[in-house]
Amino acid sequence: MSMTRSLLLAASQNVWLRERAARYKFVRRSVARFMPGEEIDDALAAAKALEGKKISGVLTHLGENIRDAREASEVTNHYLDVLRKIRPGGMQTEVSVKLTQLGLDQSAELCFSNLKQILEHEDAAKTVWIDMEASSYVDATLAVYRRAVERFPRTGICLQAYLYRTKDDLDSLFALKPSVRLVKGAYKEAADVAYPAKKDVDESYFSLGQEMLRAQRDGRMLRAAFGTHDVALIRRLQDLIAEEDMAKNALEIQMLYGIQRVEQERLAAEGYRSAVLIAYGNYWYPWFVRRLAERPANLWFMVRNLFAG
Ligand SMILES: Cc1cc2nc3c(=O)[nH]c(=O)nc-3n(C[C@H](O)[C@H](O)[C@H](O)COP(=O)(O)OP(=O)(O)OC[C@H]3O[C@@H](n4cnc5c(N)ncnc54)[C@H](O)[C@@H]3O)c2cc1C
Repeated sequence: MSMTRSLLLAASQNVWLRERAARYKFVRRSVARFMPGEEIDDALAAAKALEGKKISGVLTHLGENIRDAREASEVTNHYLDVLRKIRPGGMQTEVSVKLTQLGLDQSAELCFSNLKQILEHEDAAKTVWIDMEASSYVDATLAVYRRAVERFPRTGICLQAYLYRTKDDLDSLFALKPSVRLVKGAYKEAADVAYPAKKDVDESYFSLGQEMLRAQRDGRMLRAAFGTHDVALIRRLQDLIAEEDMAKNALEIQMLYGIQRVEQERLAAEGYRSAVLIAYGNYWYPWFVRRLAERPANLWFMVRNLFAG
């Protein structure tokens, strides 16, 4: 892992920086590149605009590691409101939740009961996605996911290609016919749990992706989605589905709002499934700094905003 990435990931956990960052206009201007606004209505307006380009939206309310059951219940109620807002418009928009926002640190039972309320309110034809957080949460997150998908078959889980364990996790989930969003992984992890070298993460991603697409074709998986902006990897996945005679819409690429916009539109126009994760809310600091860590060149973008007045 590069020094800059490592420093930025450490900074993403720093409370002192988090409390100060929002005061600076140039930081807020930089954040605006990755989120349309802090309010749910900003996110919904962005999702509506994307639907016009055949790109579906996935909304996520920023926040993690809430402090008590009351806060978890507020987040749950917030998502229930979001689902009520989405439904009448007939939008394709789905939601993606972090289990630590729904009470996972407090108790798995509390978390499951909050998640269940969201699943009960979601349209049965849609997926509620569960984000994957740091590696210490993987067991607990998968345990909640297994319970959820048994009752709500369209529930989706995020898996991270940088973890050595992910191949075994994926294989063990096939019995449940899961929906999986594969990502590389955004947290600071030790070399005994995650591949330290980017080229190994990329190879792991492709190999897991290959397995997911074949499982989807063979009916062992409900939905295979790929959360990545890596155009070279996307091309390899496109070649794979062409070689193995799968339909273009078997490949779903999900990206983050504001990143690789041209590629998002190109994929949609060519008949692949294209989705964009739209984050909103005022707890954006750790999320934003993880975006900087993914591409330290984004720091220059922030510096330019510093001098933009
Ligand atoms: C829809 C979605 C959901 C996600 N959910 C999770 C999750 O639940 N848990 C988790 O750990 N991680 C999640 N992530 C983050 C993910 O793990 C990676 O950190 C992130 O996607 C960067 O990796 P990459 O696959 O784009 O490849 P990289 O190799 O990092 O990037 C490939 C290229 O994409 C572009 N790019 C990538 N990131 C940025 C950026 N921030 N700014 C500008 N350009 C960029 C650059 O051109 C870069 O060269 C999610 C990502 C997406 C897209």
